[in-house]
Amino acid sequence: MRLIDSHTHLDDDQFDQDRAATIERARAAGVERMIAIGTGGGPPDLEAGLRLATQYECMLATVGVHPHDAAKATDETFTRLSELAMHQKVVAIGEIGLDYHYDFSPRDVQRAVFSRQLAISREAALPIVIHTREAWDDTFAILGREWRGEGILHCFTGDAAQARQALDAGFSLAFGGVLTFPKAEAVREAARIAPADRLLIETDCPYLAPVPHRGKRNEPAFVIETARRLAEVRGQAVEEIAALTADNFERLCLRGGTPNG
Ligand SMILES: [Zn+2]
Ligand SMILES: [Zn+2]
Repeated sequence: MRLIDSHTHLDDDQFDQDRAATIERARAAGVERMIAIGTGGGPPDLEAGLRLATQYECMLATVGVHPHDAAKATDETFTRLSELAMHQKVVAIGEIGLDYHYDFSPRDVQRAVFSRQLAISREAALPIVIHTREAWDDTFAILGREWRGEGILHCFTGDAAQARQALDAGFSLAFGGVLTFPKAEAVREAARIAPADRLLIETDCPYLAPVPHRGKRNEPAFVIETARRLAEVRGQAVEEIAALTADNFERLCLRGGTPNG
């Protein structure tokens, strides 16, 4: 089995006691690569993901300001992000976007910080990892005006109609633990209609553990449960789903190259 967990927060303090062992368990479960999302606690620290990616060969990183932390961003934040985007282990800008559920930062600030980071992604020619919650229309209005490249809609929990809109806009859909939840029939329908070359899997650990680990701390080794459910939904073998989601990630974020930084 060749699995890639396209979205992890292994820098979270919930892993302070057993981070190396967690990564080892993932490797033993067939998780070949893990993406350390670099948003951490927000600016001024922008290297939460890169610290892990430089320490562990199996990890790659993103850099970015989460919408929750948008109000902490300054001009220096964006200058530094542009520099970090050049690092050979940085494979995307993210997670960026809009979160109107928590509204931890004012909405106009979230939109401005999202736009600034789209400009940085364009300049660095990197794909983007999008976080959008209760902000679907504003997210796609901004993307429609300002983004022509590739990207990932992380933790996709929309329905088939939203999936089609995202797919038409050129995005890949990353499914996580929610796909395995009993009530998530609409999400599974979205997973059923998505073309095979636009599918990714993720844990978003330590959050949103898949069934049968639901409610516990999530970790990359559990990504197999989401792969299994996705395989069931699509009538494919789990090995096939593992391989195609790994290939999709590599095509999207590695462009055939292998970073070795
Ligand atoms: Zn997110
Ligand atoms: Zn996340």
